[in-house]
Amino acid sequence: MNFKNQLDQDPIFSKVAKAAEKLGLETYVVGGYVRDLILGRPCKDLDFTCVGSGIALAEEVVKQFDYHVPLSVFKNFGTAMLKLEDSELEFVGARKESYRSESRKPIVEDGTLQEDLERRDFTINAMAISLNSKDYGDLLDPFDGLNDLKKKNIQTPLDPEITFSDDPLRMMRAIRFAAQLEFDIEADTFYAISQNAHRLKIVSAERILTELNKIIQTPKPSYGFKLLFASKLLHEFFPEMVELQGVDSVDDKSHKDNFYHTLQVLDNVATVSEDLWLRWAAILHDIAKPATKRFNPKVGWTFHGHEDKGARMTPGIFKRMKLPMDERMKYVQKLVRLHLRPIALVKDEVTDSALRRLLFDAGDAIDDLMKLCRADVTSKNNKKVKRYLENFDKVERKLQEVEEKDQVRNFQPPIGGEEIMETFDLKPSKIVGDIKEEIKEAILEGKIHNKPEEARKLMLEIAIAKGLSPKK
Ligand code: ATP
Repeated sequence: MNFKNQLDQDPIFSKVAKAAEKLGLETYVVGGYVRDLILGRPCKDLDFTCVGSGIALAEEVVKQFDYHVPLSVFKNFGTAMLKLEDSELEFVGARKESYRSESRKPIVEDGTLQEDLERRDFTINAMAISLNSKDYGDLLDPFDGLNDLKKKNIQTPLDPEITFSDDPLRMMRAIRFAAQLEFDIEADTFYAISQNAHRLKIVSAERILTELNKIIQTPKPSYGFKLLFASKLLHEFFPEMVELQGVDSVDDKSHKDNFYHTLQVLDNVATVSEDLWLRWAAILHDIAKPATKRFNPKVGWTFHGHEDKGARMTPGIFKRMKLPMDERMKYVQKLVRLHLRPIALVKDEVTDSALRRLLFDAGDAIDDLMKLCRADVTSKNNKKVKRYLENFDKVERKLQEVEEKDQVRNFQPPIGGEEIMETFDLKPSKIVGDIKEEIKEAILEGKIHNKPEEARKLMLEIAIAKGLSPKK
């Protein structure tokens, strides 16, 4: 199979080929680019392997451009990277790795192309296309990766036990590729993952998270999670999610399986948003159900307070998984905490003040919160689903009306602490905060409008009742 025509579409290949020829280096484009070219997927990053010095090749490639291109050289790793406008090229010499039984650290030595492809993770990632003049564009496919692409099959080039024990992260990568490409994992490869799952312990949380987030960002993330669960990899880094699985029954009363429910919610969210953090909110929305589960003979199973406990668990999970501990965590935590609130607003007699409070508490996350709530409707009964979603339409209409009237979504107090201090000649103190809080409460309760003149009048009333008098 020859890909000369495809390579001719991008001038970078002729530049690399020219540089390689000049240096007399056997050179190939390898790995993900080749896989994606065959699959017809876009791929921005290109990996080049030559038999010799990758750094020397990269330095020669730079000379082929008539404008400046930035080159980073990593001497310790023997690699060089070249940044073009919308792609990154990496150059490396072909290498072989051998692992001695007494040490986890591989010995990396120069090797042939065949040896380089052998140390790669999966057959579909172990293909190369020649950039050498004698067979320019020819596919080199020693492990029949092309056939696996056709069969939609993930399998390791060597015995999977060896591949996974050399680098256990590859087990996560197997599932990530299966999820992204909608492939199966070949039986022996999957069996080896399930046998070696415990070895994920030696992999850093950061590397695991990179793969996990890629799984979460696939169009149907439940598939990746089911593989993580079935192989028991999930048990190694996300025990709280594993806990969600299972159904308890007492007196013929059962609750739903919260693991599969969560996956359904996640898939539902994925159909309406690509946002990684909204997807994380879906993953965590019921995370405290196992911890709050009770059986009450009168009402059956309850999970009281799981939304608050879930919000309290969120920072710990983020920290352990090396997710960001910034406003993204706060946003996820907020959605977990508020995910039941819109349901309480479904009732006809709901007050404007309850609506204002939700708008105030959710702020800019209100639209995402409504997406999460809609996604949380996973009943198999279509009539019920229709009714619940119509109820949420109603809630959204009411929220919109209140927001138009009162603008509390990004509530800024109409009276600031400065003005209170100035009016009553106060130093920064608790009483200033108390007055501000009472004004905010009055607005949320609908006692006054969100307007400075009304707030000012109320401020005077509150302060006078507290024994203060305005400065003369
Ligand atoms: P994507 O760009 O979607 O992450 P990719 O296949 O390009 O896919 P990279 O992580 O960029 O993935 O890796 C490039 C190539 O390097 C892979 O195709 C594979 O051949 C090899 N590779 C990467 N990581 C490993 C690993 N842990 N073990 C073995 N080979 C690996």
